[in-house]
Amino acid sequence: MGYQEDLAKLAQMFKSSKRAIVLTGAGISTESGIPDFRSPGTGLWEKMDPMEEASRQAFARNPVRFYQHGFAPFFMVLEAKPNPAHEVLAWMEKEGFIVGVITQNIDGLHQKAGSRNVREVHGHMRSGTCTGCREVYPVSYILEEKNQGRAPKCDCGSYIRPDVTLFGDPMPNDFWQSVQEAQKCDLMLVVGSSLEVSPANSLPQQVDRVAIINLGPTGYDRKADLVIREKAGRTLLELKELLQKG
Ligand code: NAD
Ligand code: ZN
Repeated sequence: MGYQEDLAKLAQMFKSSKRAIVLTGAGISTESGIPDFRSPGTGLWEKMDPMEEASRQAFARNPVRFYQHGFAPFFMVLEAKPNPAHEVLAWMEKEGFIVGVITQNIDGLHQKAGSRNVREVHGHMRSGTCTGCREVYPVSYILEEKNQGRAPKCDCGSYIRPDVTLFGDPMPNDFWQSVQEAQKCDLMLVVGSSLEVSPANSLPQQVDRVAIINLGPTGYDRKADLVIREKAGRTLLELKELLQKG
């Protein structure tokens, strides 16, 4: 099937679904200038392995090095702006085509685009939490300290860790709620995820019908009902046009 037929099939899947949800990954934000982990040639993650250097263990071992090195690239998401793909998903929620978005991203771009029902299964960059007394600090304070060459500390003297799910962390509540939400849906659209990161990649298994928009191959391509190998922005804008036609 060609691209236009695939797009028409995708629109049809949304029109015939009673309850649809979207799962997004780093690939939806590359058009906002944030590199993903797995597209070849972006450079950033070729010099460093985030699974190792931005892990819970790396933070525990050496908080200063963690903030100055392994975790440092994550701060770039704070300046990013949503792109048309985020905007179409916010529109689809407003118009009732989807109930919301489950995202593996920590960049907050779905909320910036106007999505209301967003589950962040890997946490977010808005704040950090004291590892001693659990006091929550805004990311502005964490960024200031990082820019001074330090690791942020709480008034109580303990280090503050980011509210991002690091490799080695347990999954946050948003993940378990996402599993339950997915089970209530009859359609999941995956956008910009290699579906290689576990356990987030188990979410499509909870849903009867799965469609995927992703540039590269994913771990679920063979089981999906539809795979569109295209850019998220273009594809979602054209999907919106078809859905508007009714
Ligand atoms: P991934 O890097 O494993 O996969 C991204 C996929 O998106 C790739 O398969 C790539 O082919 C595809 N892609 C890239 N640009 C695209 C585009 N314009 N349109 C459509 N597809 C495109 O990402 P993942 O599955 O999300 O797993 C990586 C983990 O790291 C996740 O937890 C992720 O959230 C996190 N991460 C987050 C950000 C962010 O918050 N923006 C950035 C990097 C990594
Ligand atoms: Zn404290």
